[in-house]
Amino acid sequence: MDRMTASPARKVLLAAPRGYCAGVDRAVIAVEKALEQYGAPVYVRHEIVHNKYVVKTLEKKGAIFVDETEEVPEGNIVIFSAHGVAPVVHEEAARGKLATIDATCPLVTKVHKEAVRFAKEDYDILLIGHEGHEEVIGTSGEAPDHITLVDGPEDVAKVEVRDPDKVVWLSQTTLSVDETMETVDALKGRFPNLLSPPSDDICYATQNRQTAVKQMGAEADLVIVVGSKNSSNSVRLVEVALGAGARDAHLVDYAEEIDETWLEGVSTVGVTSGASVPEILVEGVLEWLAQRGFEDVETVKAAEESITFSLPKELRRDLRAEARAAVEG
Ligand code: SF4
Repeated sequence: MDRMTASPARKVLLAAPRGYCAGVDRAVIAVEKALEQYGAPVYVRHEIVHNKYVVKTLEKKGAIFVDETEEVPEGNIVIFSAHGVAPVVHEEAARGKLATIDATCPLVTKVHKEAVRFAKEDYDILLIGHEGHEEVIGTSGEAPDHITLVDGPEDVAKVEVRDPDKVVWLSQTTLSVDETMETVDALKGRFPNLLSPPSDDICYATQNRQTAVKQMGAEADLVIVVGSKNSSNSVRLVEVALGAGARDAHLVDYAEEIDETWLEGVSTVGVTSGASVPEILVEGVLEWLAQRGFEDVETVKAAEESITFSLPKELRRDLRAEARAAVEG
């Protein structure tokens, strides 16, 4: 037997679902439609979604990404990203006489509304999430006097509340489901009457992508997650893969970032992608792997997804008006 036939069969386990979620799809289309509708430039506050490729592609089409609303010249259009913004950002835009398109994912808006409601009822809100993440900054801004950030189980001991019997927890939408439940358990140890959110804050897309990666992680020698380093849900997929038993796992933006040495002694490679990743980048990784003998691709399906969200209301209104004018004209 020669050395080639002695080596174990090489295969790829491809997670499903992976890649674009409904909120990202809507936000990216919102920028594209705004460019078509109003012409370039269209300003976008922060990365519309956390993916380098998507941002570069939209920049080429005429989108200008800014860190702060004040950077947008008066009278222009600014789009708010899928991660959501605090009310103060809407006020800044109004002061700057900017037209706004709010591409906040409806599932993030749901958490904002929960925060507003519990703050009105005078609860102390423990928001589980990552310090400095845009979504957490936006949600906290809805009720800054009522919200305390809890960045993992290690933060629980230092949490202070006014009334331990009037406390509720909420969370960022893109966390690790298991780690969040660890934090919740630790919080319940301190506050036995801690109230839970009325429905899951960790969104369906985050949960499904983690379930799929768990299923394939145990079988994979190496898991490649396609996604950007500032994408919370993508980073979580690497952690979940390792937690599920994968020997090694890495996050890459593009196939070119894969290191050949990762393949040493590897016969099964798991591939998935974060919720802000277009499929073309996964195709690039599959092609790269196929060129190295990993041609056999098996899908590991954890869930069906059929959720879609309608475009932001400001865009729908203008697109309707344009369609009406075309009919009447
Ligand atoms: S990851 Fe979830 S919360 Fe974030 S944009 Fe996608 S669907 Fe919305």
